[in-house]
Amino acid sequence: MDFCLCPIASGSSGNCTYLQADDERLLIDIGISGKKVTQGLEAINVDPTTIKGILITHEHSDHIKGVGIISRKYDLPIYATAITWERMLSENMLGKVAEHNQIIMEKDVPLMFGELVVMPYSIYHDSVDPVGYVFTYKGKKIVLATDMGKVDRRVVEHFYNADGILLEFNHDINMVEVGGYPYYLKKRILGDHGHLCNELAAKVLTHIYHPNLQWAILGHLSNENNIPDLAYLCAKNALEAKNIEIGKDIQITVAKRHDMTPIHRV
Ligand SMILES: [Zn+2]
Ligand SMILES: [Zn+2]
Repeated sequence: MDFCLCPIASGSSGNCTYLQADDERLLIDIGISGKKVTQGLEAINVDPTTIKGILITHEHSDHIKGVGIISRKYDLPIYATAITWERMLSENMLGKVAEHNQIIMEKDVPLMFGELVVMPYSIYHDSVDPVGYVFTYKGKKIVLATDMGKVDRRVVEHFYNADGILLEFNHDINMVEVGGYPYYLKKRILGDHGHLCNELAAKVLTHIYHPNLQWAILGHLSNENNIPDLAYLCAKNALEAKNIEIGKDIQITVAKRHDMTPIHRV
Protein backbone atom coordinates (compact mmCIF):
# COMPACT_ATOMS: atom_id res chain seq x y z
CA MET A 1 0.00 0.00 0.00
CA ASP A 2 1.12 3.52 -0.74
CA PHE A 3 -0.58 6.08 1.47
CA CYS A 4 1.34 9.33 1.47
CA LEU A 5 1.24 13.10 1.55
CA CYS A 6 3.50 15.59 -0.17
CA PRO A 7 3.31 19.37 0.24
CA ILE A 8 4.05 20.94 -3.14
CA ALA A 9 4.13 24.39 -1.52
CA SER A 10 3.27 25.47 2.00
CA GLY A 11 3.11 28.93 3.57
CA SER A 12 1.43 32.30 3.43
CA SER A 13 2.59 32.74 -0.17
CA GLY A 14 0.78 29.66 -1.48
CA ASN A 15 -0.39 26.20 -0.50
CA CYS A 16 -0.88 22.98 -2.39
CA THR A 17 -0.70 19.43 -1.04
CA TYR A 18 -0.74 16.12 -2.86
CA LEU A 19 -2.32 13.10 -1.18
CA GLN A 20 -2.22 9.55 -2.49
CA ALA A 21 -3.88 6.34 -1.31
CA ASP A 22 -2.74 3.93 -4.02
CA ASP A 23 -4.86 4.82 -7.06
CA GLU A 24 -6.85 7.50 -5.24
CA ARG A 25 -5.01 10.76 -5.83
CA LEU A 26 -6.08 14.19 -4.68
CA LEU A 27 -4.84 17.73 -4.45
CA ILE A 28 -5.75 19.81 -1.42
CA ASP A 29 -5.85 23.52 -2.32
CA ILE A 30 -3.95 25.12 -5.16
CA GLY A 31 -2.72 28.55 -4.08
CA ILE A 32 0.17 28.51 -6.54
CA SER A 33 0.39 28.74 -10.32
CA GLY A 34 -0.84 25.94 -12.53
CA LYS A 35 2.67 25.57 -13.87
CA LYS A 36 4.15 25.03 -10.42
CA VAL A 37 1.62 22.29 -9.63
CA THR A 38 2.35 20.47 -12.87
CA GLN A 39 6.08 20.75 -12.25
CA GLY A 40 5.66 19.53 -8.68
CA LEU A 41 3.67 16.49 -9.74
CA GLU A 42 6.19 15.74 -12.44
CA ALA A 43 8.99 15.83 -9.85
CA ILE A 44 7.31 13.01 -7.93
CA ASN A 45 6.34 11.10 -11.07
CA VAL A 46 2.61 11.67 -10.75
CA ASP A 47 0.66 11.98 -13.98
CA PRO A 48 -1.78 14.90 -13.44
CA THR A 49 -4.46 13.05 -15.43
CA THR A 50 -4.57 10.41 -12.65
CA ILE A 51 -5.72 13.00 -10.06
CA LYS A 52 -9.33 12.45 -8.98
CA GLY A 53 -10.19 15.85 -7.54
CA ILE A 54 -9.24 19.06 -5.76
CA LEU A 55 -10.32 19.58 -2.15
CA ILE A 56 -10.69 23.16 -0.91
CA THR A 57 -10.00 24.17 2.70
CA HIS A 58 -11.16 27.80 2.29
CA GLU A 59 -11.37 30.60 -0.24
CA HIS A 60 -8.27 32.68 0.62
CA SER A 61 -6.14 33.24 -2.46
CA ASP A 62 -3.09 31.48 -1.00
CA HIS A 63 -5.26 28.33 -1.25
CA ILE A 64 -7.27 28.72 -4.43
CA LYS A 65 -5.61 30.94 -6.98
CA GLY A 66 -4.55 28.01 -9.21
CA VAL A 67 -7.65 25.86 -8.67
CA GLY A 68 -9.64 27.08 -11.69
CA ILE A 69 -6.75 26.63 -14.12
CA ILE A 70 -6.00 23.06 -13.05
CA SER A 71 -9.67 22.06 -12.92
CA ARG A 72 -10.16 23.32 -16.49
CA LYS A 73 -6.93 21.78 -17.78
CA TYR A 74 -7.56 18.27 -16.44
CA ASP A 75 -11.36 18.41 -16.08
CA LEU A 76 -11.10 17.88 -12.31
CA PRO A 77 -13.98 18.07 -9.83
CA ILE A 78 -13.57 20.64 -7.07
CA TYR A 79 -14.90 19.84 -3.58
CA ALA A 80 -15.94 22.66 -1.24
CA THR A 81 -18.77 23.41 1.19
CA ALA A 82 -21.90 25.18 -0.10
CA ILE A 83 -20.98 28.43 1.67
CA THR A 84 -17.45 28.40 0.28
CA TRP A 85 -18.80 27.68 -3.22
CA GLU A 86 -21.21 30.57 -2.95
CA ARG A 87 -18.37 32.97 -2.12
CA MET A 88 -15.96 31.60 -4.74
CA LEU A 89 -18.59 31.80 -7.50
CA SER A 90 -20.15 35.14 -6.56
CA GLU A 91 -16.72 36.79 -6.49
CA ASN A 92 -15.52 34.87 -9.53
CA MET A 93 -12.43 33.64 -7.68
CA LEU A 94 -11.86 30.59 -9.89
CA GLY A 95 -12.79 31.81 -13.33
CA LYS A 96 -15.11 29.54 -15.28
CA VAL A 97 -15.70 26.13 -13.69
CA ALA A 98 -17.73 23.47 -15.50
CA GLU A 99 -20.92 22.76 -13.59
CA HIS A 100 -20.15 19.04 -13.35
CA ASN A 101 -16.93 19.96 -11.52
CA GLN A 102 -18.67 22.00 -8.81
CA ILE A 103 -19.09 19.43 -6.05
CA ILE A 104 -20.68 20.45 -2.77
CA MET A 105 -19.46 18.62 0.32
CA GLU A 106 -20.69 18.85 3.88
CA LYS A 107 -18.59 19.26 6.99
CA ASP A 108 -18.38 16.12 9.12
CA VAL A 109 -19.80 14.02 6.28
CA PRO A 110 -17.18 11.69 4.83
CA LEU A 111 -16.36 11.66 1.12
CA MET A 112 -15.40 8.29 -0.31
CA PHE A 113 -12.76 7.79 -2.98
CA GLY A 114 -12.62 4.01 -3.29
CA GLU A 115 -11.41 2.88 0.12
CA LEU A 116 -10.02 6.30 0.98
CA VAL A 117 -12.25 8.15 3.45
CA VAL A 118 -11.95 11.94 3.48
CA MET A 119 -13.49 13.79 6.41
CA PRO A 120 -13.77 17.59 6.20
CA TYR A 121 -13.88 19.06 9.73
CA SER A 122 -14.68 22.59 10.80
CA ILE A 123 -11.83 24.90 11.92
CA TYR A 124 -11.54 28.48 13.26
CA HIS A 125 -10.28 30.85 10.57
CA ASP A 126 -11.41 34.17 9.11
CA SER A 127 -12.92 32.80 5.92
CA VAL A 128 -16.59 31.96 5.27
CA ASP A 129 -16.58 28.22 6.05
CA PRO A 130 -13.05 26.81 6.57
CA VAL A 131 -12.24 23.14 6.98
CA GLY A 132 -9.32 20.84 7.68
CA TYR A 133 -9.19 17.24 6.44
CA VAL A 134 -8.70 13.80 7.92
CA PHE A 135 -7.76 11.01 5.51
CA THR A 136 -8.12 7.38 6.51
CA TYR A 137 -7.10 4.43 4.40
CA LYS A 138 -6.73 0.77 5.34
CA GLY A 139 -6.44 1.53 9.05
CA LYS A 140 -3.98 4.43 8.69
CA LYS A 141 -4.72 8.10 9.25
CA ILE A 142 -3.20 11.31 7.88
CA VAL A 143 -4.37 14.72 9.11
CA LEU A 144 -4.16 18.10 7.40
CA ALA A 145 -4.47 20.97 9.87
CA THR A 146 -3.54 24.48 8.76
CA ASP A 147 -5.10 27.97 8.94
CA MET A 148 -6.31 27.47 12.47
CA GLY A 149 -6.90 30.40 14.75
CA LYS A 150 -7.27 28.11 17.71
CA VAL A 151 -7.48 24.43 18.50
CA ASP A 152 -10.12 23.40 20.98
CA ARG A 153 -11.32 19.99 22.11
CA ARG A 154 -13.65 19.54 19.17
CA VAL A 155 -10.85 20.22 16.67
CA VAL A 156 -8.12 18.27 18.42
CA GLU A 157 -10.28 15.17 18.56
CA HIS A 158 -9.76 14.81 14.82
CA PHE A 159 -6.00 14.55 15.36
CA TYR A 160 -5.98 11.62 17.76
CA ASN A 161 -4.49 8.34 16.53
CA ALA A 162 -2.98 10.01 13.48
CA ASP A 163 -0.06 8.23 11.79
CA GLY A 164 1.07 11.47 10.17
CA ILE A 165 0.07 15.14 10.40
CA LEU A 166 0.65 18.31 8.45
CA LEU A 167 0.29 20.87 11.23
CA GLU A 168 0.37 24.65 11.01
CA PHE A 169 3.34 26.36 12.68
CA ASN A 170 2.50 29.81 11.35
CA HIS A 171 4.33 32.38 13.40
CA ASP A 172 6.38 33.26 16.40
CA ILE A 173 4.32 35.52 18.66
CA ASN A 174 7.28 37.75 19.49
CA MET A 175 8.14 38.26 15.85
CA VAL A 176 4.56 39.34 15.14
CA GLU A 177 4.52 41.73 18.08
CA VAL A 178 7.81 43.49 17.31
CA GLY A 179 7.41 43.22 13.52
CA GLY A 180 6.29 45.90 11.08
CA TYR A 181 2.75 44.68 10.39
CA PRO A 182 -0.06 47.20 10.88
CA TYR A 183 -2.07 46.77 14.07
CA TYR A 184 -5.16 45.28 12.39
CA LEU A 185 -3.03 42.58 10.73
CA LYS A 186 -1.24 41.73 13.97
CA LYS A 187 -4.60 41.43 15.66
CA ARG A 188 -5.86 39.17 12.88
CA ILE A 189 -2.88 36.82 12.97
CA LEU A 190 -2.85 36.54 16.74
CA GLY A 191 -6.64 36.26 17.06
CA ASP A 192 -8.79 33.16 17.48
CA HIS A 193 -9.64 33.12 13.77
CA GLY A 194 -6.17 33.72 12.37
CA HIS A 195 -3.25 31.33 12.45
CA LEU A 196 -1.65 28.92 14.90
CA CYS A 197 1.61 30.09 16.52
CA ASN A 198 4.66 27.89 17.07
CA GLU A 199 4.13 27.58 20.81
CA LEU A 200 0.52 26.44 20.57
CA ALA A 201 1.21 24.12 17.65
CA ALA A 202 4.03 22.50 19.64
CA LYS A 203 1.64 22.03 22.52
CA VAL A 204 -0.91 20.40 20.21
CA LEU A 205 1.78 18.13 18.80
CA THR A 206 2.93 16.85 22.20
CA HIS A 207 -0.69 16.47 23.27
CA ILE A 208 -1.63 14.24 20.32
CA TYR A 209 1.65 12.33 20.25
CA HIS A 210 1.33 8.56 20.54
CA PRO A 211 3.81 5.87 19.50
CA ASN A 212 2.17 5.36 16.09
CA LEU A 213 2.53 9.01 15.08
CA GLN A 214 5.41 8.59 12.65
CA TRP A 215 5.84 12.12 11.43
CA ALA A 216 4.74 15.71 11.64
CA ILE A 217 5.30 18.24 8.90
CA LEU A 218 5.40 21.78 10.26
CA GLY A 219 3.60 23.83 7.63
CA HIS A 220 2.08 27.14 6.53
CA LEU A 221 4.99 29.12 8.00
CA SER A 222 4.72 32.88 7.73
CA ASN A 223 7.34 34.55 5.60
CA GLU A 224 7.62 37.63 7.78
CA ASN A 225 6.88 36.24 11.23
CA ASN A 226 8.64 32.90 11.41
CA ILE A 227 11.93 31.17 10.69
CA PRO A 228 12.06 27.45 9.84
CA ASP A 229 14.72 26.80 12.54
CA LEU A 230 12.58 28.56 15.13
CA ALA A 231 9.51 26.46 14.34
CA TYR A 232 11.62 23.31 14.45
CA LEU A 233 13.24 24.27 17.75
CA CYS A 234 9.88 25.03 19.28
CA ALA A 235 8.58 21.57 18.35
CA LYS A 236 11.83 19.93 19.49
CA ASN A 237 11.84 21.60 22.90
CA ALA A 238 8.21 20.71 23.56
CA LEU A 239 8.68 17.09 22.47
CA GLU A 240 11.90 16.63 24.44
CA ALA A 241 10.26 18.00 27.55
CA LYS A 242 7.96 14.97 27.26
CA ASN A 243 10.86 12.61 26.51
CA ILE A 244 9.84 12.23 22.88
CA GLU A 245 12.96 12.00 20.77
CA ILE A 246 13.06 13.37 17.22
CA GLY A 247 14.51 10.85 14.78
CA LYS A 248 13.65 7.95 17.04
CA ASP A 249 10.08 8.43 18.26
CA ILE A 250 8.92 10.85 15.53
CA GLN A 251 10.21 12.50 12.37
CA ILE A 252 9.86 16.27 12.15
CA THR A 253 10.11 18.12 8.84
CA VAL A 254 9.61 21.81 8.23
CA ALA A 255 7.65 22.23 4.98
CA LYS A 256 9.35 24.30 2.33
CA ARG A 257 7.59 27.48 1.36
CA HIS A 258 8.14 27.54 -2.39
CA ASP A 259 9.45 24.06 -3.02
CA MET A 260 8.46 20.45 -2.69
CA THR A 261 8.73 18.87 0.73
CA PRO A 262 9.72 15.19 0.53
CA ILE A 263 6.93 12.61 0.26
CA HIS A 264 5.81 11.38 3.68
CA ARG A 265 4.39 7.86 3.90
CA VAL A 266 2.52 6.05 6.63
ZN1 LIG B 1 -6.54 31.59 5.12
ZN1 LIG C 1 -3.54 30.05 4.35
